[in-house]
Amino acid sequence: MRSVKCIRCSEKINRQVDPFVQVGQRYAHKKCEDLFLLENEERKKLNEVLLHVFGKNEVNWGAVQQQVKKYQEEYNYTLNGIARTLYYVFSIKKLSFKNADGIGITPFYYKEAKKYYEKLNKAKSNAQGTLLYNIKEVEILPPHKTGTKKKSFDLNFL
Ligand SMILES: [Zn+2]
Repeated sequence: MRSVKCIRCSEKINRQVDPFVQVGQRYAHKKCEDLFLLENEERKKLNEVLLHVFGKNEVNWGAVQQQVKKYQEEYNYTLNGIARTLYYVFSIKKLSFKNADGIGITPFYYKEAKKYYEKLNKAKSNAQGTLLYNIKEVEILPPHKTGTKKKSFDLNFL
């Protein structure tokens, strides 16, 4: 069996040992592909939230994408965490989003929103269907090397 490279992380897949999946004509580590799909799903949800909170003010997608990337890289924010924060700022804090500012407000409310939804989730007071976020923290180990860094994801929100 010739060795192949993972299309997601570009590292070699040892198909004798590593769990892998076929993606079209190519291959990916199972973990890499799962992560990729999860991120796709989260991105879709984030986009839905963006459309919702900006409403008529319209989303400046280019600028927002850069902000998201920055927050992910510099603050280690998750996509769902960002989405959750935006929703919180909009629906609880009743602040509006303007095209020019993008989502620059995110770092000011990220922790507060996290706490809010954690509390809400704990209370499980969703009798009226008011619980919009069902947050489940799942820890995913990185597929290779650096076995110390954990990445956490919020699943099943909205
Ligand atoms: Zn991989």
